[in-house]
Amino acid sequence: MELKREVQSSDILDPRNDYKPTPSTVEVRWDPLLGYSARLVTGGRLLPPSDFDLEALGRRTAETCFFCPDRVEAVTPLFAPELVAEGRIRRGEAFLFPNIQAYSRYSSVSLYSPALHYLPLDRITGPIVRDNLGAQVDFTLRATRHDPGAPWVSINANHMLPSGSSLFHPHMQGSVDPHPTTMQEQLARVPADRFQDYLDTERRLGERHLGNLGGVEWLAGFAPLGFNELRAFVPGVRSPEQLDEERLEALAEGIARALNLYAEMGYQSFNLAIVGAPAEGHVLSARLVCRSNLQELYRSDVAYFERLHWQAMVDGSPEELAERAGDRFRG
Ligand SMILES: [Zn+2]
Repeated sequence: MELKREVQSSDILDPRNDYKPTPSTVEVRWDPLLGYSARLVTGGRLLPPSDFDLEALGRRTAETCFFCPDRVEAVTPLFAPELVAEGRIRRGEAFLFPNIQAYSRYSSVSLYSPALHYLPLDRITGPIVRDNLGAQVDFTLRATRHDPGAPWVSINANHMLPSGSSLFHPHMQGSVDPHPTTMQEQLARVPADRFQDYLDTERRLGERHLGNLGGVEWLAGFAPLGFNELRAFVPGVRSPEQLDEERLEALAEGIARALNLYAEMGYQSFNLAIVGAPAEGHVLSARLVCRSNLQELYRSDVAYFERLHWQAMVDGSPEELAERAGDRFRG
């Protein structure tokens, strides 16, 4: 497989170089699976790390939080008994209930724990993610069995306000619907051998392949959709509800390591999407991107390029990210 990339360059008269003609460059790359493009800029830092006092905001928001232990059982909804007989799903500390505002036919919210209102990314561990993700897998399995007309499944996270989360208390969201999202629809059309070809190509090149953790392949995305994009592929599994205990644990461990890496790089907000499809041979995949940190006078990481041109423009390169990730995804 050819990984397509092209550097665009033109001269500007640069005041930082006595107004002499100086090349100004940007690299365009195309995603190996879907063909969308991304722009990589070098030299600038578009997404600065943060020294924002997240813990102090945590203390303030805990006072009225619906997901904290004092309130969560009194104010969150229950599933209908034919879907979840016990109303809500628990696994370890994780606690899952219906989204009060449906985002899809079957729509769930799951807390890592009612007690974990403040959960900075360096404190996230494999078992914490495993129990939350496990509660979601349980939910998606029950929903797809209950309603075979809703086969499109994803498990997602908006973490902290810049990522789109309306609540401070960290959580994931599950979606089971009769219709795919645009990304699901496009990924479902990718032939099975193209996933394999992409993974084989990245493994051979070695620049962005981060490792295989318990059967889950981890990569720095070649043409990222957002900042510091990490991708995971789970060959042999096509949708989240098919994850067995072993692969659930492996995927959770990788997600925790990815979030620990983001913390180390100075980031506290991210989006996650774990995307399945009801298509034979489809490969379950997950994607994580960093979002802008909470801080005064911050620059949003989503500008006209991302919002209206459907093309990310990011700083740094996937290769630098892979170097930074080091051996952490290698078992
Ligand atoms: Zn809370």
